Amino acid sequence: MTNTRLRVNCPHCAKPVFWDDQHTFKPFCSERCKLIDLGAWADEQYAIPAQTPPDDLLDEDFAELKNR
Ligand SMILES: [Zn+2]
Repeated sequence: MTNTRLRVNCPHCAKPVFWDDQHTFKPFCSERCKLIDLGAWADEQYAIPAQTPPDDLLDEDFAELKNR
């Protein structure tokens, strides 16, 4: 037998993971790490704030322009 198993590090916790059929969550070491990492990506996407300016400031600016 040859010992040519590829070893990677879990992207979430950096734990060594052997790249074989026994690790169905590779490159993650476990389902938990996979879900956490995917969840982190999703959270990051949803965390982007909406760039909507407050209406009050805009109304004040328009009012100021009219008074000139
Ligand atoms: Zn992990």
